[in-house]
Amino acid sequence: MPTDNPPQSSGFYYPNNMGRVVLQALEEVMGRNGVNALLTLAKLRHLVNNYPPNNLEKGFRFEDFGAITQGLDDMYGPRGGRGLGIRAGRAALKYGLREFGAVLGIADLAFRLLPLGMKLKVGINTLAETFNKFTDQVVRLEEDEEYFIWIIERCPVCWGRTADAPCCHAAVGILQEGAHWLSGGKSFRVEEVECTAAGAPACKILIGKRPID
Ligand SMILES: [Zn+2]
Repeated sequence: MPTDNPPQSSGFYYPNNMGRVVLQALEEVMGRNGVNALLTLAKLRHLVNNYPPNNLEKGFRFEDFGAITQGLDDMYGPRGGRGLGIRAGRAALKYGLREFGAVLGIADLAFRLLPLGMKLKVGINTLAETFNKFTDQVVRLEEDEEYFIWIIERCPVCWGRTADAPCCHAAVGILQEGAHWLSGGKSFRVEEVECTAAGAPACKILIGKRPID
């Protein structure tokens, strides 16, 4: 099959099933034709109608993820790209839970009985551990009085990109939906304040500890 992959590789991967989830989530927000146009624009024609298989083998490259988010911004402009990126991230979390929900143990009764603050803390930690265990993404957590601070030290979302402002909208969407789900339907402020693509040493996303509604 002809490909137009760049010759050099980052050597960092998501497992195939997570790459598949990313593409399915994009399909939910922009339709199959939209995804095909995006993949073509992003020079990822090998993925058109050929999503990664549903297994844990590490086969979805970080540079492909970065090319997809760059393509979203190129196709729809920074504002449109941001909106679609966030929506795709939210959809990805939902699909991801179907694949990884059992691993997370978050649906267990003991978890459901935790108070909200602890539920968020445990859930966000578990999500970070899941990325660290199954992918080459590296996540570290800090917190202060107001926020959980999700620090992506090796970020696939903006891999290979340069940007004027933080651009890991898909990661923001994943965490928005994660907090929403963990809290049983509440909304939290989630904002990327620093981004590797914009020159920071890591991508840093704040997750409010208290719901905004
Ligand atoms: Zn990033």
